[in-house]
Amino acid sequence: MPLSSARAADAPLRTAASVLAEAADARATVVLSGHVQPDADALGSTLSLAEGLRRRGARVLVTFPGPFTLPTSLGWLPGAEGLVPSTAVPSSPDVFVSLDAASPARLGELAVLLDTAGTSIVVDHHASNPGFGDVRLVDGGAPATVTLVAGLLDELGVTLDRPLATCLYAGLAADTGSFRFGNTRPETHELAARLLATGIDHSDISRRLFDTAPFGWLGLLSVVTGRAVLETEVGGGLVWTWSSTAEAAEHGLPGEQLEALVDVVRSTQEADVACVLKGQDDGSWSVSLRSRGATDVARVAMALGGGGHVLAAGYSSCADRETTIAALRRELASE
Ligand code: MN
Repeated sequence: MPLSSARAADAPLRTAASVLAEAADARATVVLSGHVQPDADALGSTLSLAEGLRRRGARVLVTFPGPFTLPTSLGWLPGAEGLVPSTAVPSSPDVFVSLDAASPARLGELAVLLDTAGTSIVVDHHASNPGFGDVRLVDGGAPATVTLVAGLLDELGVTLDRPLATCLYAGLAADTGSFRFGNTRPETHELAARLLATGIDHSDISRRLFDTAPFGWLGLLSVVTGRAVLETEVGGGLVWTWSSTAEAAEHGLPGEQLEALVDVVRSTQEADVACVLKGQDDGSWSVSLRSRGATDVARVAMALGGGGHVLAAGYSSCADRETTIAALRRELASE
């Protein structure tokens, strides 16, 4: 990164940190939240910033938009036991912090706090983030929202210890694919080194995040990969398949287990784009897209009403399966 842009990126960091420091000094009420169906980065960034602010003296409430169920793969994160329902937070807190949410819509019923809070701060790293909130700490080049939170904690003078580092490492490892994805920078490894130096059990964190699933996962995986379709003539090649929360339940699995399917499907050599349609309880499709590099799936997802990163994005569709995949084919053909 050129020095000039590094300096430009420091300004929102300092502004956000000074708003949070003032709030902490005044023992003000700070509400923090991340996107619906939070992943390791949303939860890790929210829980670690909340704990840091609590140590600095702020009155902190952490919540997530409904319908919220804590994924079992993440329920062990330090601080997760203190989450409160969205109905329990004040309607106009002194400060509201949104973490890892690419758009107000991703905050569900909590989006109203962007306007009703004394000050709203948006901390995010999605390329598709349009810019919202009063203070915008948004860096589309950051590999994870937790890296921005680590910068905030440093500015606030909060010492990274094992509980904080555990939350930060979970988000960092998840959003970089264990440091395999192209978003991994030299400073990503430097942060990882700082986190490991606190004494966290990174091997245990990785095992919980990536290598643990109920036996039923194998059955679901075989069904879903067995029905995958390869369409080499669409764009740079498309591989897609589908499942649903109901099908996950048939295998004894919570709906969150559907999230990992795309990580298997995207290994298909002949397709630049991998897609998994995940049928939700309300009948809609939650669509996951991954690119092997030639396709900007953030653009594709935005065109279809969603958002995300260049190589990992998603959107929702209320159309039936064939209509949903036909719309995706059209977008990929126009790439
Ligand atoms: Mn993220």
